[in-house]
Amino acid sequence: MAGPRRKLGVALVGLGMYSTGQLGPALKETKHCYLAGIVSGDQGKREKWKMEYGIPEKNIYDYKDFDSIKDNGDIDIVYVVLPNSMHAEYVIRAANANKHVICEKPMAITTSECNQMINACSKAHVLLSIGYRLHFDPYNLEVMRLAKEKVYGPVTKITAAHGLSKADGWRLDKKLAGGGPLMDVGIYCVNAGRYITGMEPLNVHAFEGAKRNKEKFKTIEESLTWRMEYASGIVAECSCSYSEYQNHLHVDAGKGWFEIAPAFSYGGIKGKTSDSKLEFPHINQQAAQMDDFALAIIENKRTRVPGEMGRQDVKILQAIYTSMQTGQKVRL
Ligand code: NDP
Repeated sequence: MAGPRRKLGVALVGLGMYSTGQLGPALKETKHCYLAGIVSGDQGKREKWKMEYGIPEKNIYDYKDFDSIKDNGDIDIVYVVLPNSMHAEYVIRAANANKHVICEKPMAITTSECNQMINACSKAHVLLSIGYRLHFDPYNLEVMRLAKEKVYGPVTKITAAHGLSKADGWRLDKKLAGGGPLMDVGIYCVNAGRYITGMEPLNVHAFEGAKRNKEKFKTIEESLTWRMEYASGIVAECSCSYSEYQNHLHVDAGKGWFEIAPAFSYGGIKGKTSDSKLEFPHINQQAAQMDDFALAIIENKRTRVPGEMGRQDVKILQAIYTSMQTGQKVRL
């Protein structure tokens, strides 16, 4: 008789805010994977995590010895949680070490990097997934269903906004972040546009907001609004910011509307429609996302949030920046 199935080992690369606050704790709840290793440039963090998660010394790496993870049978999945401009390098190094990879959003800074990442994973026969946790959130899944099944008639308009009231560190540095709030939080509106319509936008038109703090936002936009147009006349009006909290997704359809607000948070999402309230039990989005990826590996299936989805969003982000810089509508 077959024994219980082994949980897959995950190594988190970069022990910052998201790893510490969300992914590490989520890996205590996962059923099909667990935190087996860590990669960090900070000795103090490595010690702390080693104690908290009981990680054996042989599964603890810094960036210099990261490539030797290839010889570590405990690690099946490398999860890249680094500043955006480092994603491509570490995903490619993980693939070259024959590890399956999850990469945080945005997948990379350019589509050319995304192509290299997809090719490296495909050449190594490993799966690549992007950290799109909302594809496992019941409220966002319900909004996708209402749109797809035309429960309130065909979608006519989407209004989406995601903004933080503050940002600091590498997020303000274009070299490390690739851009401003669009790369970090605006990407959720771009991805939502795709999962609500099931289509790619035909064109985008973007406008940079006025900078209230020119020194702080020297290399990146402080805020941005943009419009995406889809076939059959659907439009998405979107905005993102690093100086104002915004977090909603509203969809108008032929016979009514539906919305979630906050829409993109880790929890506490609330939803309603033109005739009812949406209510679902709380789930740990990150645990669900990582378990789904582990199952995709175990059962040899496609991941729900593959590299190709990440690349498509990066392509749209690039077009939005081109439009912002030229003032022109950009066709995709
Ligand atoms: P943090 O700044 O909190 O952490 C980044 C970590 O990367 C650092 O703590 C450090 O870890 C490591 N690092 C290595 N080199 C550098 C460098 N040159 N500058 C700064 N950090 C470096 O960022 P977050 O955790 O908030 O974000 C990391 C990634 O996760 C981003 O791509 C972000 O978009 C994504 N993210 C996704 C979220 C989601 O909901 N899906 C939510 C939040 C973030 P160490 O000290 O261990 O080496």
